[in-house]
Amino acid sequence: MFVMYNADTMKVPVRVWLKEEKDLEKGCMEQAYHLSRLPFLHKWVSLMPDTHTGMGMPIGGVIAAKGVVIPNAVGVDIGCGMAYTETNIRVENIKNVMTENGSLIQAIVGDIMRNIPVGFAHHKTEMPCYTLDVAFEEMDRYEEDAELLGQLEAGYFQIGTLGGGNHFIELQEDDNGYLAVMLHSGSRHFGKSVCDYFHAKARELNQRWYSQVPDEYRLAFLPVDTKEGAHYLNWMQLSMDFAKENREKMMLAVKAILEKWIGKYTDLTLEFSGDINCHHNYAALENHYGENVWVHRKGAVRARNGELAVIPGAMGSYSYVVMGKGNPESFCSSSHGAGRQYSRKGAMAAFTCEEVMLDLQKQGVILGKKGKADVAEESRFAYKNIEDVMDNQTDLVVPVKRLKTIGVIKG
Ligand code: 5GP
Ligand code: MN
Ligand code: MN
Repeated sequence: MFVMYNADTMKVPVRVWLKEEKDLEKGCMEQAYHLSRLPFLHKWVSLMPDTHTGMGMPIGGVIAAKGVVIPNAVGVDIGCGMAYTETNIRVENIKNVMTENGSLIQAIVGDIMRNIPVGFAHHKTEMPCYTLDVAFEEMDRYEEDAELLGQLEAGYFQIGTLGGGNHFIELQEDDNGYLAVMLHSGSRHFGKSVCDYFHAKARELNQRWYSQVPDEYRLAFLPVDTKEGAHYLNWMQLSMDFAKENREKMMLAVKAILEKWIGKYTDLTLEFSGDINCHHNYAALENHYGENVWVHRKGAVRARNGELAVIPGAMGSYSYVVMGKGNPESFCSSSHGAGRQYSRKGAMAAFTCEEVMLDLQKQGVILGKKGKADVAEESRFAYKNIEDVMDNQTDLVVPVKRLKTIGVIKG
């Protein structure tokens, strides 16, 4: 960890969980500097070891704000996060089982792809959604933001869908040989609409108030004691609940598929345990160093003392389940992944589709993905080495489990 501070140009220091300044991307450094000039931050800005440039605020960034929320410091995919479950099945007992549709793992990956819409796809009919049902019962919290109301209807088609880019469902093997499932997704188009709408609203209001935060920082804020701030919090919480239910629904579908195939082709009795479902893009009111503050985690997980969280690495590499150490200096947070090393474009230029497919094949990874043209954007070479990232946060979390990809469905 190192600290950046210049009393003449910054209001608060920036703490970075990397070894030295040269490890920090230039764009990320500039965004950190913008954050450090905000007039309402508590203590400092914390950047996790997976940090990289984001929209306005770096991914892997954590800030504690006094009395305000910043839509772009929560992020576009509000409530994005990870779901996880582990099983009592040893991978070696299912790996070589064959079905009429190839290996058992291939059949399971194929069945997941047929049953869970991926990419831009959503359901053709409305699906049950507890979160949205509740929202319709509490319309007074939402009805003033008329532009967003259509999203409530659309959400019934989006619940239980994966989304594109780096959202994924992975079958994994832990270091003891047991099968586990990890799933990455968020609030789909719903949360993005909420972010865009309230960021625009915040810009408009900040201009009217002659805010000291320059518009080009893209960090427009809403005081929580304004109507708009309160409404953002309502919609943000709804998006978080929607995202969590979205992951729950998909995890249930994956569990049913595993039961079906393992039940049909083996005489093993499948049991699940150790479920986790955690957000990595959100804001929450928490107490740090004696003050109640809005902690924004944008690509970071909460890691209170003893709290479990999920840190994915990349497809074909390792991912972790971790236990928090409750380090107050990171506002009890840790990295949410390995973080990008190459931009999407940069990765496409640096690695060919063939190279990536060959690497996955060598690692014995079964890939379920509709179009393969953009596979390099998501290869393990596009991300930082997860082992380096874990090395940089030994004061934030302890590894509980290390898991390797055996099959992956990508958006
Ligand atoms: P983000 O939430 O910022 O979009 O991404 C979270 C993290 O997920 C990335 O930083 C990366 O480390 C990890 N990740 C992306 N794609 C995959 C994948 O296919 N499998 C695994 N295990 N991790 C991934
Ligand atoms: Mn997301
Ligand atoms: Mn995410």
